[in-house]
Amino acid sequence: MLSTVLRRTYLKWQRLRQQCTIAALQEQRSTWLLTFTAQFVDLLALPEIVDLLARWVKFNTRPLSPLEMAEARKVFGNSIPLEHIRIDEFSLLAWMGAWLQNAPQMGVTIFYTINFTRRLKIEAASGDMGWLIHELVHIAQMHHVGSRYIWEALHAQNSAEGYDYGNPRNLLYKNLAAFNREQQGDIVRHYYDYVLYGEAYPLFKQYYQAHYYDEQISDLQKGKL
Ligand SMILES: [Zn+2]
Repeated sequence: MLSTVLRRTYLKWQRLRQQCTIAALQEQRSTWLLTFTAQFVDLLALPEIVDLLARWVKFNTRPLSPLEMAEARKVFGNSIPLEHIRIDEFSLLAWMGAWLQNAPQMGVTIFYTINFTRRLKIEAASGDMGWLIHELVHIAQMHHVGSRYIWEALHAQNSAEGYDYGNPRNLLYKNLAAFNREQQGDIVRHYYDYVLYGEAYPLFKQYYQAHYYDEQISDLQKGKL
């Protein structure tokens, strides 16, 4: 774990340096300070420290199961550190989120820990596995872009488009990075649910055509979010 953190420090330093350019300032304007702060927090390895402390405090977290890892690899390849991820299926944080948003259930990914309001029923192609895939996209965002994904995802949730990326044909000739943090989560979730496991549903197969998702999944596996 420590060696991974040290190895990634240079990457985080580069992100922070890129942020400190006039181009970044001009491009981001109102959000520049938020991103700068997130990248500074990342450089200090605060997300990893918080994760480590949380692991001591929260006794009920678990690692991904072998089945969850195998299913995740079908989508993410080896682009995220699956072995470091923790799952909390009785999360106070997720319950509070669900209560605040009046939602029946909720998943909240903070750094490398995914918080759920209930125990998942995981099988290949199950609805809960699709849900987990969406949350793992937030882990990919954390891993490749840094903790700025948190405010970007909150912003996406409150935007007009929200989670909706429109017709899957919209994905053609666009990079994954062109979509907001929640759209990214649902693009990858739909790839898992409907492209990888869509054979049973001819209508899905026609609507969610595999080649629409090629560019997006390739970006995901290269960490280009
Ligand atoms: Zn999400």
